[in-house]
Amino acid sequence: MSLAAGTVVTYPAGAVRSVGTVLHVADAGEGRLAVILDRTAFHPVDSAWPDQPADRGSLRTAAGESVVLDAVVGATRGEGIVLGPDVPVRTGTDGWTFFVAHLVDGAATVSVGDSAEVTVDAAYRGALSAGHTACHLASLALDAALADSWRKEAPADALGAPAFDALAIQDSRILPDGSRDVYRIGKSLRRRGFDPDGLGDLDALAARVNAQLAAWIAAGGVVRIERDGDALADRRTWVCELPGAEARIPCGGTHVASLGELSAVTVAFEASPVEGGVELVMTTTVGRA
Ligand SMILES: [Zn+2]
Repeated sequence: MSLAAGTVVTYPAGAVRSVGTVLHVADAGEGRLAVILDRTAFHPVDSAWPDQPADRGSLRTAAGESVVLDAVVGATRGEGIVLGPDVPVRTGTDGWTFFVAHLVDGAATVSVGDSAEVTVDAAYRGALSAGHTACHLASLALDAALADSWRKEAPADALGAPAFDALAIQDSRILPDGSRDVYRIGKSLRRRGFDPDGLGDLDALAARVNAQLAAWIAAGGVVRIERDGDALADRRTWVCELPGAEARIPCGGTHVASLGELSAVTVAFEASPVEGGVELVMTTTVGRA
């Protein structure tokens, strides 16, 4: 048993329970142990792009049950391990093995070779999955609503509109039944051809985005995660059926299985001046069917 294969993850297919074998136990600092399994349903936060937070839940071995206090991506190059923000490379970088580290109280009795059952808080996962699907849809609807604000050819998003979201995003956080995206409209975006006047009245912008979102939700398209493999580091893609198009976005998170699970997705905007430009915050809220 070794860390060389990394962790097989089952959350992309929607699993909220798994049974695995403990591959490694390490001191994670702050009185916590990092428990690494060969297989888990537990979604960890990825420090390289921490949009979706870690799941909540517990880990049970023959010695007892522990609350999982946090779950992070860890990595090794063969000697020693690094966890969370200490991982110096993006998940998937060649030459590294990536795994899910479940952080539990340091007093827990967990040993290499133990069988471990992981149970994820399904209600919290469901709320994050709804928030993550809505976040992707809102970004595409925003790109479409701003498509006329570009004076030059810009890289395209998954639906062919100029990729405002990808070019301007500073921070993206998935919340239970929502998300919060922060964009910066500064010199570099203007140089790429974006006209900041195109934002116009923010309530009118929100109305355009919300009308597009309502049409997409009403169509109730299927959502799925395509994956190159089952390991944490394997590339995964969010695929969503929309009227007349199929949107594909690289994504390591969790999602609903159908837009029919959502009753509404709406956004609101706030803009504030920052040095050299404007910071735009898009808050997305989900209603579930
Ligand atoms: Zn995503």
